Amino acid sequence: MDYSRVDSRTPCPVCGREKWCLLHKTGTYAICMHEPEEIFVPRYGGWKHWLPEPVSVTIPPPPEPKDWQTLLRSYTDNVRELAREWDVNLEVLLDLGIRWDVSKGCFAIPVKLWNGDVVGVQRQWLDGTKRFMSGSKPGLFYPDNVRYTAVAVCEGASDTAVAMHLGFPAIGRVSASQSANQVTMFRADRYYIVADNDEAGQIGARRLQSRLTEHGKWNTIITPPEKDLRAFYQEAGYKEAKQWLGDVWG
Ligand SMILES: [Zn+2]
Repeated sequence: MDYSRVDSRTPCPVCGREKWCLLHKTGTYAICMHEPEEIFVPRYGGWKHWLPEPVSVTIPPPPEPKDWQTLLRSYTDNVRELAREWDVNLEVLLDLGIRWDVSKGCFAIPVKLWNGDVVGVQRQWLDGTKRFMSGSKPGLFYPDNVRYTAVAVCEGASDTAVAMHLGFPAIGRVSASQSANQVTMFRADRYYIVADNDEAGQIGARRLQSRLTEHGKWNTIITPPEKDLRAFYQEAGYKEAKQWLGDVWG
């Protein structure tokens, strides 16, 4: 953060307005959004003005890291509707720490590092819309206090829930292209990478595979015969999906 936005206490020294214009941290120039000058700064959409007298500028400190645990505890555990939508046991969702945010009308899914630290929350609505809360970092979806020897590495929370529902230990990546680092540090001996049946899923899976292999971790890629594991489960049903995963599990 090199700039501070003008406000009522520090109006813009160029145009006098109390909104939008920026002051550089050195206090030697402003980027005014209203008064043209020689140099236009496209990134901020304003003009650079050297100030005759430097002004004192306080840059606000970066936002405090969020206390995700406290936030999650402020939500309810009423996640029945999501269990119905995903067609999985309620316990699976509770194990994943999923909560219901009444005020936003969405589910809150904790994102964790390999060591269990919660580093973010993914919001998910029943229509499938997903969004990370601001300040979230990429990580994994998985239950607290687990020690897996073999683990299914899924893409997204719903596939993770489905794998758990089918009786397999599972962790989820936030997307096919993220969290490879965290998967590698997660202490399991065998990794079954459940790849989505599309280009992004396959590329992401191969990247993760080479990372795991570099770290000497046994792994294999498995691709469900539908778009993803949940779609396969919905199409084929519990018994067949469980059988399929069990067969590759060996
Ligand atoms: Zn201005």
